[in-house]
Amino acid sequence: LEYHIGIDLGGTNIKAGVVDGAWNIVRQASIPTETDRGQEHVLARMAMIARQVVADAGLKPGQIKGVGVGVPGPVDASGEVVLEAPNLGWKLCPVRERLEELTPWKCLVVNDANAAAYGEFIAGAGRDPGVRDMILITLGTGVGSGIVIKGELFIGPHGAGAELGHSVMTINGRPCSCGQRGCLEQYTSASAIGREAKKKIDSGVKTLLRAGATSKDVFDAAAKGDAAAQEIVDEVCEYMGLACVNFVHAFDPEVILLGGGAAAAGEPLVRGVRAAFKRHMWHVAPTHVTITTAMLGNDAGFIGAAGMAGRK
Ligand SMILES: [Zn+2]
Repeated sequence: LEYHIGIDLGGTNIKAGVVDGAWNIVRQASIPTETDRGQEHVLARMAMIARQVVADAGLKPGQIKGVGVGVPGPVDASGEVVLEAPNLGWKLCPVRERLEELTPWKCLVVNDANAAAYGEFIAGAGRDPGVRDMILITLGTGVGSGIVIKGELFIGPHGAGAELGHSVMTINGRPCSCGQRGCLEQYTSASAIGREAKKKIDSGVKTLLRAGATSKDVFDAAAKGDAAAQEIVDEVCEYMGLACVNFVHAFDPEVILLGGGAAAAGEPLVRGVRAAFKRHMWHVAPTHVTITTAMLGNDAGFIGAAGMAGRK
């Protein structure tokens, strides 16, 4: 039997898992990243947790065929170097080379949102054999995305592709941390939804929303008939639906998956996005896209990273 290790490197935690040839999780573990102790320390912790999950799974190092690492930032197209990881304070880190020195295994590095998309494709909501072209949009602190075309991750020749969260949705829109204005991320991320909730509360309008309201609180309040919360939900669904129109025109995928913290809202989000998509989509062209929620949650990243390492 063949096994692979997937590692999901986050700013707060490092998650690692062993998966078998059918992409089932055999064993997984999570440890704090300890970002503040520096790059070499974090690399050593990644090597440590990788060895630990293998031992915990009762496997020998020789049974592992490779390690895939999902990282929070852009990666060069050959899967070797993390170009930048703002959450970790890293620039140009040769993760592949260092992990191959620290472990007995071949390694591959991939952007975390791309890894999550590949995970959903091989083991989650995109696993259906009828699905070959798929997009995952994660609505979290930011808006991440991954694009699968004909069964392969699309990364682009410079590793700079698949940043759909920074699609510009409006002229002179809200400023984004990336330096652009009007990015999708500024209207649909879990953080953006929280910010809008705060604005509503601060404005003094009558609302069930309270300080610190999360995206889930906003969707819950809207379901209870809260008008202020409903305005936020409508705007989120409108932007996300429009973005789906753009993505369908560009990629014609079979499936668009919504994941990340805000997707915990589930059916109300999906229903709203589908309705906005339908309202705005060019009706002359038939579309067969299914817009739905992702399935694997936080496991998608390490499963997809393992899958990339195991790709033939
Ligand atoms: Zn942006």
